[in-house]
Amino acid sequence: MSAGKQCETVRVVVRCRPFSRREETAGCENILEVDDRLGQITIRNPKVPPDEPMKVFTFDSVYGWNSKQRDIYDDAVRPLVESVLHGFNGTIFAYGQTGTGKTHTMQGASKDPEKRGVIPNSFEHIFTQISRSQNQKYLVRSSYLEIYQEEIRDLLCKNNNKKLELKENPDCGVYVKDLSSVVTKNTTEIEHVMNIGNQSRSVGFTNMNERSSRSHAIFLVTVECSERGPDGEDHIRVGKLNMVDLAGSERQSKTGAKGKRLKEAAKINLSLSALGNVISALVDGKSTHVPYRDSKLTRLLQDSLGGNAKTVMIATVGPTHKSFDETLATLRYASRAK
Ligand code: ADP
Ligand code: MG
Repeated sequence: MSAGKQCETVRVVVRCRPFSRREETAGCENILEVDDRLGQITIRNPKVPPDEPMKVFTFDSVYGWNSKQRDIYDDAVRPLVESVLHGFNGTIFAYGQTGTGKTHTMQGASKDPEKRGVIPNSFEHIFTQISRSQNQKYLVRSSYLEIYQEEIRDLLCKNNNKKLELKENPDCGVYVKDLSSVVTKNTTEIEHVMNIGNQSRSVGFTNMNERSSRSHAIFLVTVECSERGPDGEDHIRVGKLNMVDLAGSERQSKTGAKGKRLKEAAKINLSLSALGNVISALVDGKSTHVPYRDSKLTRLLQDSLGGNAKTVMIATVGPTHKSFDETLATLRYASRAK
């Protein structure tokens, strides 16, 4: 694979969130320098003297604290969704430590147009495109699921404590058996589906953040387009768009997790490291083996990672000295995927 081709298939971008009010009042130090022209992030180790050399990472794009939701969508995501509308598969990941803006980036605040994240912006993009089409007929279906401790749950089903199984068949590849799939005709309907799923994410947990920091949430939109060809036959093409808010990347073992928590942490890290291995094998281009089978997440996304599919990884980081170790780990993970 040529270098040009690689960056077409997998794009890696980094977004740094602003200081929170709490970080500001606590007098936290900024350790990141974001150069969006060069696509570079410089990180300073707060524990060493300021004249020590700093680490510089380069990505396809980087976004500083004042970046807009629109910028992320238009630069990093729009081309991928465009290709889904043309019948290709694509996956967008938000990866990073809890509290760095994964959910803000993917979801945002859907009521305020300025604050809408990747998922609601993709809805608008898809349905606007469909409303402009003339000779095509479209069918848009969505599913919303969660992978928690290597178990899959349907977020759109009332009885969502049921664990769903991954199946494989020669015609449609890997799929989740009995997963709900809802047909929607416009942005209002699909947003409603997203809201139902978001509500069921928090069920069974005392704290929403606790659950979301330990599970992967995948919103899947399938766009089917049929068009009458010059031969008088209908031609159908199907594109799948996976939008994934990953579990927090922080190493839980360091936080003193024991027993059940520690086992859980091992599983979370397993699927995040499996994902890192798959993406780096794809980017490398020379690997003959792409280890999709190592986790539920990578098996499920197999047909939307690599091949003709496009992938965008949005790594999110915080700006302060307190998260130096985790931020460095995120930048390393992301640059391995590049
Ligand atoms: P995560 O999902 O990674 O745990 P959140 O998306 O919940 O993190 O973000 C944590 C907090 O930081 C939220 O209050 C969110 O609104 C805020 N935040 C995150 N990213 C940004 C950003 N780019 N601009 C403004 N606020 C942000
Ligand atoms: Mg979150």
